[in-house]
Amino acid sequence: MVLKFSSDIVIVGAGTSGCVAATRLVGAGFKVILIDAGPDFGHSDQGNWPNEITNEKFMGEDTSFDWGYTAQLGLKEKRYLRGKVFGGSSAINASGINWGLKSDYDRWSEYGIEGWQFNDLLPYFHKVENLQDLENADAERGTNGQIRVTRQNPDQEYFKDFEKSCKKLDLDYIDASGPESAQGYGYVTRNVSDGIRQNPAQSYLDEIRLNKNFTILDMSEVININWHDNRATGLEITRKGELINIKSSQIILCAGAVGSPILLQRSGIGPRYILDKLGFNANNSKVLNGVGENLQDHFGIRYSFKASPYALKNIQWDKGGSIRIRLKQFQEDTGHNLTFSSALSPFASNGKTTASKFFHSIVWLVQPKSKGNIFINSKDNSLNPTINFNFGSSHDEDIKSILYGLEWSREFVQSSPINKWISNMHIPSDHCNAAELMNWIQNNLSFYYHMVGTCRMGAQNDPQSVVNDQGLVNGFDNLYIFDASVMPKIPRGMLNLTVFAIAEKMSSMLIQSIG
Ligand SMILES: Cc1cc2nc3c(=O)[nH]c(=O)nc-3n(C[C@H](O)[C@H](O)[C@H](O)COP(=O)(O)OP(=O)(O)OC[C@H]3O[C@@H](n4cnc5c(N)ncnc54)[C@H](O)[C@@H]3O)c2cc1C
Repeated sequence: MVLKFSSDIVIVGAGTSGCVAATRLVGAGFKVILIDAGPDFGHSDQGNWPNEITNEKFMGEDTSFDWGYTAQLGLKEKRYLRGKVFGGSSAINASGINWGLKSDYDRWSEYGIEGWQFNDLLPYFHKVENLQDLENADAERGTNGQIRVTRQNPDQEYFKDFEKSCKKLDLDYIDASGPESAQGYGYVTRNVSDGIRQNPAQSYLDEIRLNKNFTILDMSEVININWHDNRATGLEITRKGELINIKSSQIILCAGAVGSPILLQRSGIGPRYILDKLGFNANNSKVLNGVGENLQDHFGIRYSFKASPYALKNIQWDKGGSIRIRLKQFQEDTGHNLTFSSALSPFASNGKTTASKFFHSIVWLVQPKSKGNIFINSKDNSLNPTINFNFGSSHDEDIKSILYGLEWSREFVQSSPINKWISNMHIPSDHCNAAELMNWIQNNLSFYYHMVGTCRMGAQNDPQSVVNDQGLVNGFDNLYIFDASVMPKIPRGMLNLTVFAIAEKMSSMLIQSIG
C-alpha cells in the first residue's frame, strides 16, 4: 500500500536542528510534518521516555538508539555513533554545552557568507541557553532560553589542588564552556537539570505536540528526495514495511552531518565521481561537489593515571567530577586549539560509576587541520556509508598536537599539589618511549562524534559550497539544510549549542522569506 501525505513544510530528522525548526515553523502557523527513522516517546508529562535517554549518566556508547555506522580512525575501525530517536544525537550525547569561540564564528565570513559572525548568532544562542548558575560565567551566556544548562562544580579536595597547580602555571579560572578565548581552567556546563538530560524532543517539541498543524511520523526512514529541475517535489519513505509518499512546498533536511549528505547522494545530488559510481546519468542527477566533503570532527585521546595512596583514602569516587584546561598551543593564528580534561569517574558509565579508581584524562584537539569525506557505495539505504577522517594523513601537526597535549598533562600532574593525588601513568605506561607513544596514539585515537561541514555553507561561486547563507541548497528553490552539516569550519567547543543556534537562525530566516 502507498500512503500519501501533504504539508507546507516537511522536516527530515527530529534531532537537535529538526526539533528547533519544527517548533518555530509550527509556531509561525505553518503545517509541518516531522519525520524520523527512530521512535518518539511523546510528551514528557506522559513519562514514557526510557531511562537510557533521560538519565544524564547514559552516554552514546551504551545506547540502543544508534544507526550502527563505523569509521576508520588511525589504525582502528570504530563505531561512529548517531542518535536514531526523537531528539537525535542530542538524546544520546554526553550533554556537554559549549560555545565555540567568538573568532570561530567571525571566521565563517571567509567562506563568502553574510550574517554568520558571532554578534549575528548571539541572539540565537540566547534563544537556546538557559544557564542556571551564572556565577563566573562569560558575559554573553544566555539565561532565558529553551534549554536548561547547569555547571558541574565538583566539591572535592582533589579539584581544589588541581586549581592550585593551574595557578602556579599562570592558568586562571575561566568560563571553560563560554565564548571568550582565554587560556585557563574551569568547570563544564551541561544540558542537564536535576540529573535529567534536556532533550530537544521534550524541551522544544512538547510546546507544539497538540497543535493541529503538526504531524509526527516516527519509525519512518526517508530513502529518496524526488526532484525535478530546481524543485524538490516530495519524499519517499519506508515506515513499518509500507512505502509513503509525501508532497510538500518546502523540504528541510535536518538529518545531521551523516544523514543529510548521504540522503542527497542517494537522490542523485553530489560529486560527479559518486553519481557516476552509483549509476546516475546527467539527466537524473545534479552535481554538487561539496556534498559529503569537508568533513571535520574533534579528535582526542583518553588515558589514565594511577591514584596515590592519599587519593585512594580521600576521594569520594562515586561522586566523580571533571575539570578542564584550555590551552593555547604553538601561538599560531588558530589560537587555542587544545583542551585537557581530567575526570575522576570514567567517561561512559552505564548509568553508574565503575569501581576503577583511576584519574581519567582526555586531550582534545578542538581545531584539527585534517579533513575527510563521507560517501555511499550503493543506492541501497540499508548499507552503511564510508566515513573517512584522513586524520593525520595530510596534517602531521594534528598528531603532534595530541602528543604535545599528552606530554603536557603528564608533566602537569607531577607538579605540586596535584602530585599528592596521582602516582604515575596507568595507560599508556610511563615507560613508553616516543615511538611507542606515537604508536599507542594511532591505536587509541578517538573522535568526538562532532561531525560538521559535509554540506557546508558558502558563496554561490564556491565549488565546495552546498547551501547558501539561508540554508538553501544550491540549484534548488525549496530544498534546505539546517543541521550540523552546514558549518563551514568546526568551532573550538562542543557542537550542540551551535547546531541549536543555527537551526533557530535559519528557521527565523525561512519564516521571513516565505511567511
Ligand atoms: C555519542 C555522542 C556524544 C556527543 N556529545 C556531545 C556533547 O557532549 N556536547 C555537544 O555539544 N555535542 C555532542 N555531540 C554532538 C551533538 O549531539 C550533535 O552535533 C548534534 O546533535 C547534531 O544535531 P543535528 O540536528 O545536526 O543531527 P542529529 O541530532 O544527529 O539528528 C539527526 C536526526 O535525523 C534522523 N535521520 C537521519 N537520516 C534520516 C533519514 N534518512 N530518514 C529519517 N530520519 C533520519 C536521525 O535518526 C536523527 O534523529 C555528541 C554526539 C554523539 C553522537
